[in-house]
Amino acid sequence: MKTPESAFAPAVPLSVTRIALAFAALAASPSVLLAHPNHAVSQVAAAAPRRDPQPPATTAPVRADARLSVTIRDAKLQQPTPARVRITDETGKPLGPLALTALPRNAPPAAEARLSLPGTVIGLPPQAIGIMYGPNDTAQGYAFQMDGAFYVNGSFDLAMPAGKFLITIAKGYEFVQQTEELTFKAGDHLIRAYDLGRWVDMPQRGWYSADDHIHLRRSPRENPLILDWVAAEDVHVGVLLQMGDFWTTYFAQYAWGEKGRYGAGEYVLTSGQEEPRTGELGHTISLGAQAFVRFQDDYFLYDKLFDRVHELGGVSGYAHQGMSFHGYRGMTLDVLAGKIDFLELMQFCVPEGPLAVEHYYRFLDLGYRLTALAGSDFPWCGRGARPGEEQVGAQIGNARFYTYVGDEFGFPRWLDGVKAGHTFVTSGPVIDLKVNGQIPGSAVDVKPGAKVRIVATANGHASQIPLRRLQVIGHGKILAEAKAGEPGQDASLLRLEFEHEVKHGIWLAARAEAGPSQMAHTTPVYVTAGGDGFHNRSNLTAQIDVSRKYLAEIRALLRAPTDTPRPSARSAPGPLAYREARARLEQRIAVAEAKLEELSRRR
Ligand SMILES: [Zn+2]
Ligand SMILES: [Zn+2]
Repeated sequence: MKTPESAFAPAVPLSVTRIALAFAALAASPSVLLAHPNHAVSQVAAAAPRRDPQPPATTAPVRADARLSVTIRDAKLQQPTPARVRITDETGKPLGPLALTALPRNAPPAAEARLSLPGTVIGLPPQAIGIMYGPNDTAQGYAFQMDGAFYVNGSFDLAMPAGKFLITIAKGYEFVQQTEELTFKAGDHLIRAYDLGRWVDMPQRGWYSADDHIHLRRSPRENPLILDWVAAEDVHVGVLLQMGDFWTTYFAQYAWGEKGRYGAGEYVLTSGQEEPRTGELGHTISLGAQAFVRFQDDYFLYDKLFDRVHELGGVSGYAHQGMSFHGYRGMTLDVLAGKIDFLELMQFCVPEGPLAVEHYYRFLDLGYRLTALAGSDFPWCGRGARPGEEQVGAQIGNARFYTYVGDEFGFPRWLDGVKAGHTFVTSGPVIDLKVNGQIPGSAVDVKPGAKVRIVATANGHASQIPLRRLQVIGHGKILAEAKAGEPGQDASLLRLEFEHEVKHGIWLAARAEAGPSQMAHTTPVYVTAGGDGFHNRSNLTAQIDVSRKYLAEIRALLRAPTDTPRPSARSAPGPLAYREARARLEQRIAVAEAKLEELSRRR
């Protein structure tokens, strides 16, 4: 049993009534955590009023009319497996504290509901896997997920009210989720066994999923618990990001490099960082490095940090598709200077999401390699979530990326695959692209005028991930498309195979769409002709102009009339406050402009 009862020791059982009372007391005075500026994070800990003495904690199970006992196995391995469980009533509301889904995520009662001790409230079995540090990086803990689901490892036993319910057992995107209607009369004890089968086996093909963006405070003690969460979403590599701003850091990780890794079987947790993060130049992610890197005195000199991360064996890139927090400005400096490896191309945090390609295509068109990664930004950003509002859909691995690792999984091999750019991002479908037999991230050079053979496939599942279309993209344009329903194409398999004449270099990628917000996109294969570049001649001038505009925005920032930090700038006081940062940023802008000038003379 993995229930961290001791991790919750100070907690007391909370009834729904108590939660409702607590809401009345706490709602008036939430304080603000200096976290993601647009995520409207609030915390209750600092504002908690004095409480009356509490009854002693008890682990006695809740009383109810009936009982449900469930075992969950991996159908192929015939072994108990971690999974996500959600039980809803006839109206679609999750069983458990109603406050959880009826109120915004940041409302105090939602936090209190997640604090519920497993086994002491309706809807949360003793075997539910809870952790200590909750969504606001405080010791609120949670066992309930944002949507009222919970994680278990292989089995659970739950007190149930009489009535009709729907149970859904899921394990990431490669397994077929199971849903069953269950009816309970008083005195019933239903025993159910669910065998989760796959509709696709990516590890067998050598591809392993990862979430590059999870925020959970972690000590060695939480390792087995968080690993079960990540394995319950079938995410093979969970990258836990210590998050920073100019002032401080959040979501602490206890170690970096090998010491900070924890794994069992083919699942592993690893430390990374979302730091630096500013509203002026964007949010960045680094992972795989041997240490946490932070230069508070040079906070706006992102390149200095990226150089250090590379020295320490890691990779760096921009978060949030380069869209929010003016990430496209920082990217323009750093891509042109050759300082970063990747862009987080898929995530549910931006309104254009989960797949937002504008800045990705811009740098590819300019002729720069950029690997596509993806992540959830858990505990924020769910499907259909609007930043700052209710985000009950936040879920580890909802946006994820796959890396080609080969026959044998291991973290160093996985990191090598990321460095080589052998990736695709997805919120459901899986996708495969080969150009002259080469996978995404590879370079292919041919004689000018020669043809390359392109083979792309997308796999889906007829009901769970029903494919609609598969496209091969070249220089941002659709070169070929297959749709479900066309001869030989269907909702579970789409395939394209054709030849493309290469007069000049071109970047080629595949993308797929399935159900609502289900899509996938590969890192390109970079095709060159006679050793030339793969930049896009047809829109090079336009992309250079846009890039110049973003550089001018940074320059305007540095020449603003006042040195007074904006009171609203919570992530950092702004580069104006640092004479040295201004001088260095001016230099970096000049270097980037020279690079654009050089690109403009390219044929
Ligand atoms: Zn961020
Ligand atoms: Zn984040």
